[in-house]
Amino acid sequence: MHSETAKLIDTHCHLTDNRLSRDLEGVLERARDAGVVAIISATADVADSIKASQLAEKYKQIYCTAGVHPHESGKVSKDYLNRLEELIKNPRCVAIGEIGLDYHYDFSPHDAQQRVFAEQLTLARRYGKPVVIHTREAFDDTLAIISESGISGEQIIFHSFTGGQEQARRVLQIGAYISFSGILTFKNADAIRSTAVLVPDDKILIETDAPYLSPEPIRKMKVNEPANITYIAEFLARIRKIGVKQVAEQTTVNALKIFSLDIDMREDVSSEYG
Ligand SMILES: [Zn+2]
Repeated sequence: MHSETAKLIDTHCHLTDNRLSRDLEGVLERARDAGVVAIISATADVADSIKASQLAEKYKQIYCTAGVHPHESGKVSKDYLNRLEELIKNPRCVAIGEIGLDYHYDFSPHDAQQRVFAEQLTLARRYGKPVVIHTREAFDDTLAIISESGISGEQIIFHSFTGGQEQARRVLQIGAYISFSGILTFKNADAIRSTAVLVPDDKILIETDAPYLSPEPIRKMKVNEPANITYIAEFLARIRKIGVKQVAEQTTVNALKIFSLDIDMREDVSSEYG
């Protein structure tokens, strides 16, 4: 039915957020119509991870992560790691995240953020799971903790990347992936755009981070949702001077690989990338 539509994967959004969950059927239908073949619902704490795993059990196009966001890391229970461990055994849980450091909001003390980040990296390493990183005004410490954990950079995704070329270079140097959100389309995002042009084809991902970060031109008008990944793909195609279909193929192949998604894309993705 949508054979002419590029097949896209929203590698990061929050379907458990009330702004999306209250009309989930509609959100999923619009995503399907936009060519979105898989959605990864990212999580912020243990309770949220349980909710996301329930969605991933129910809908075949939804996958989830499990993890404690830096904002929540000051509030973790003593057994939070055991509870995450139970969740990541579920094959529908395809990554640990979003985890990392946020020194901008500072909602949790730095030492708690660093400890909880490091512990979850160790868990990811033990289970061979990829990791979705949130980092804000904490780039050096984030890279240092990743490095200390011994996890392979190939397992790391820097989500909603807002760094410039120098940070991108350091991320790529460890073999990590870079995921771009609607921020790419914002007027003041020239530095991010200059980065997005340089990321190699095999390291680039796209995401909506919905319900946050509605892309231009609907930024001020609507709550963001996975269907809007098309705006990001189209924008990326324009600045990388390639076709939208090519952006879709590259980012989808990368998402299938890093998250080990069990969808058969052979008919949908050109053999060049198969
Ligand atoms: Zn997020």
